[in-house]
Amino acid sequence: LPEYAFIGRSNVGKSSLINMLTERKSLAKTSGRPGKTQLINHFKINENWFLVDLPGYGYARVSKKDKKTFQKYITDYFTQREQLVCAFVLVDIRHSPQKIDMEFMEWLGENQVPFCIIFTKADKLKPGAIERNVNAYLNEMENGLWEEAPSYFITSSSKNMGREELLTYIDGINTDFFQALKN
Ligand code: GDP
Repeated sequence: LPEYAFIGRSNVGKSSLINMLTERKSLAKTSGRPGKTQLINHFKINENWFLVDLPGYGYARVSKKDKKTFQKYITDYFTQREQLVCAFVLVDIRHSPQKIDMEFMEWLGENQVPFCIIFTKADKLKPGAIERNVNAYLNEMENGLWEEAPSYFITSSSKNMGREELLTYIDGINTDFFQALKN
């Protein structure tokens, strides 16, 4: 089955987002403690696709050796996984573009991994600030190596915001995926 990967810096709100999408509150463990998701977890959605929960990157408090192990996990997954259709890179909407996220997206681009950006924790900002921060991200990408900015979603897990848009988008690419298989 096709897979859609979710990844971002630790504490970005990935577990909360996955719980919002899956409505299975007990599965992805949320916590204020960074680095809780350490293995690759699969969630079967709608019988025809998998949501894949990848370890977070950019831990402040783990050893160099652990960092390397996580990195290898992630790069192996993205470069070897044939079922992977799209990666969703989560970024906290409150922050200006972060080097580690930009580098990660560049790396995805270089490795031909299609991706979208998911802005998280939108409930923490007013609409004007949301727009400003989203534009800062898109401008930064357009000024970089990118010919066009990726698709993006604005979400809040605590306000249940962005869920339908995201699931509808995934269902759309998923339908295309199965259509392409048939042809
Ligand atoms: P992960 O480490 O990326 O899996 O992040 P978590 O889902 O565990 O969330 C990290 C922290 O951010 C927790 O304290 C969550 O309650 C909080 N959080 C996550 N999503 C949201 C959101 O949409 N809005 C708000 N206000 N807080 C959030």
